[in-house]
Amino acid sequence: MRKLVIASNNAGKLGEIRHLLEPLGFEIFPQSALGVSEPEEPHVTFVENALLKARHASLCTGLPALADDSGICVPRLNGKPGIHSARYAGEPKSDECNNRKLVETLLGEPDRRAYYYCVMVLLRHAEDPQPIIADGTWHGEIVLEPRGEGGFGYDPYFFLPQLSRTAAELSMEQKNRISHRGQALARLVDKIREEEI
Ligand code: IMP
Repeated sequence: MRKLVIASNNAGKLGEIRHLLEPLGFEIFPQSALGVSEPEEPHVTFVENALLKARHASLCTGLPALADDSGICVPRLNGKPGIHSARYAGEPKSDECNNRKLVETLLGEPDRRAYYYCVMVLLRHAEDPQPIIADGTWHGEIVLEPRGEGGFGYDPYFFLPQLSRTAAELSMEQKNRISHRGQALARLVDKIREEEI
């Protein structure tokens, strides 16, 4: 088994990653179990922040590292909330305040298309010159009234016209199959297989 540190402490994400990568021969360690702190995320793009998190985890542990970064983007708002999705309405971070701010910002705006984006970065070692990068994009639109109890974050307001449901109305399995994170993870698995790392 090859050891792999995951630069995330989110139990749901760790479960999904473990499920997909353990069969490929990886032994998965959350960074918190190895005493790795969470670094600042100073960059303006998802990929730069994911790369920074992976490099930090790899430097601290001497192990290969996988990091992800994700958020929701509204083209009409120049991609906002974007990398600031978790704290769109400021500190302390709150899904309720973020959703209220997004809905208020989009009141009267007919074009409320939005997409979730996720990027995964895998470094074989801290100075890996060619990180494995896989991403996923999930298109929908923001509705002004919440629907559904599942998911988290912006999901009750993220409506999928083809399914006539919000992301919060999908089962976890349905969401994982089609979401930005599900797509990025599936592509990452393909790339790991192709490169036989
Ligand atoms: P992180 O990549 O886990 O830090 O996610 C950043 C933020 O993006 C989260 O705090 C949420 O606000 C938002 N976000 C990312 N993925 C999702 C999702 O699948 N559903 C709802 N919100 C999400």
